Amino acid sequence: MQNIKDLTLNDIEKWLTLHGEKAYKALQVFAWVFNKGVNSFDDMTDLSKALREKLKENFFISKPKILATEKSQDGTQKLLLELEDLNCIESVLIPEEDRLTLCLSSQVGCPLDCGFCMTGKGGFVRNLKLSEIVNQVFAAQSLLSVNQKITNLVLMGMGEPLLNYDEVIKFLNIAIHQKGLGFAPKRVTVSTAGIVPMIERLGREIKVNLAVSLNATTDEIRNRLMPINKKYPLQILLDACRKYPAARNRYITFEYILIEDVNDSIEDAKRLVKLLQGIKCKINLIPFNPFPGAEFKRPSEKTILNFQKVLMDNNYIAIIRASKGQDISAACGQLRGKLQR
Ligand code: SF4
Repeated sequence: MQNIKDLTLNDIEKWLTLHGEKAYKALQVFAWVFNKGVNSFDDMTDLSKALREKLKENFFISKPKILATEKSQDGTQKLLLELEDLNCIESVLIPEEDRLTLCLSSQVGCPLDCGFCMTGKGGFVRNLKLSEIVNQVFAAQSLLSVNQKITNLVLMGMGEPLLNYDEVIKFLNIAIHQKGLGFAPKRVTVSTAGIVPMIERLGREIKVNLAVSLNATTDEIRNRLMPINKKYPLQILLDACRKYPAARNRYITFEYILIEDVNDSIEDAKRLVKLLQGIKCKINLIPFNPFPGAEFKRPSEKTILNFQKVLMDNNYIAIIRASKGQDISAACGQLRGKLQR
C-alpha cells in the first residue's frame, strides 16, 4: 500500500485515469489530503463511496508522530517527529511580530558537514520522502490554537534541501498550490549551503524565495566552515545568485553566522560588501549559537554591531537575528541528539 501523501496532483490524476475515474476528481482528492488534511478516506465526502473504497484498498494516509516538543520562553517551539523507520527529525515554529514561521527539515541528518552545525556532525542517514516533509506542517498545525496560523515556510532545518531536490520540488509545488497547503510563493523559502546546479534548476522550475548560507568572504575560510565550497566556490555560487530569478520585489537572503575570530572582522564585512555587489539581497547576521562540543564562540556585541554597521553604511539591509529558543535545544539537531542519547 502506498502513502497518498507521497503523490503529487499529477500522480493522483494518472492513478485515477488508469483506474477508470475522471481526471478532474484528482483535484478533489488532492485538496482533501493536502488542504483539509483529513486522516481518513471516509471523510472525503464529495467522492462516491465506490471511489473512496477503491482509494482505501490502494492507499493509506500517514499521520505525523510527535515524539517530543520543547517550548522556549520566547515562544519558539521545537518538535521532534518520529518517522516510520524510527528515525527522527526536527521542525521549529518561530513566532515573530507579524508572522509565524515553520522551519522544516528535508533530510535525516546531512552530508555536508558544516563546521558550525550540530546536524552536520551527526552525519547523513537518508532523504525525506514528500509525505515526511508535508507531515511536518500538519504536526506543527496540530499544536496551534484555532486563531493561530503558520504564515511562512522555510526549508532550513536538518539537511540540505537541494540535495533532496525531487521530493523538495514536489513539496514546494504542494506548498504553493491553492488547493494544497495554500501558501503564497513569497512566503516560502528554500535555504541552501550552495548547491549551484540545483539553485539554477530551482530558479527555472518554481518561484519561491532563496536563502543562501554564506558565512565567509574568502574561499579559504568558507572551505574550512563549509566543505561544499571546495566544489562550488564563492564566485560560482554568487554568480548563480546573481542569475536567480527572485520573485518581483523580493530579495535573496544571505545568512551569515558570525563566529569569533573566524569571519567577524571589519575586513570581512568590507569584503562581503564587495562580494554581494549587484545582487538584490538582504543579510541576516546570526551570532553563533554554541552547542555542546562546538569549537567556535559567539563574537562580542560590539563586534557584531561594528560588522552590521559596515554593511548598513554601504546601503545593505543587514539584520541581526536574535538566536531564538536559547533556553531550549536551540541548535538545529540538538533536540534529536538529546533524545537519542
Ligand atoms: S548547516 Fe545545513 S547544510 Fe550545513 S551541515 Fe548543517 S544542515 Fe547541513
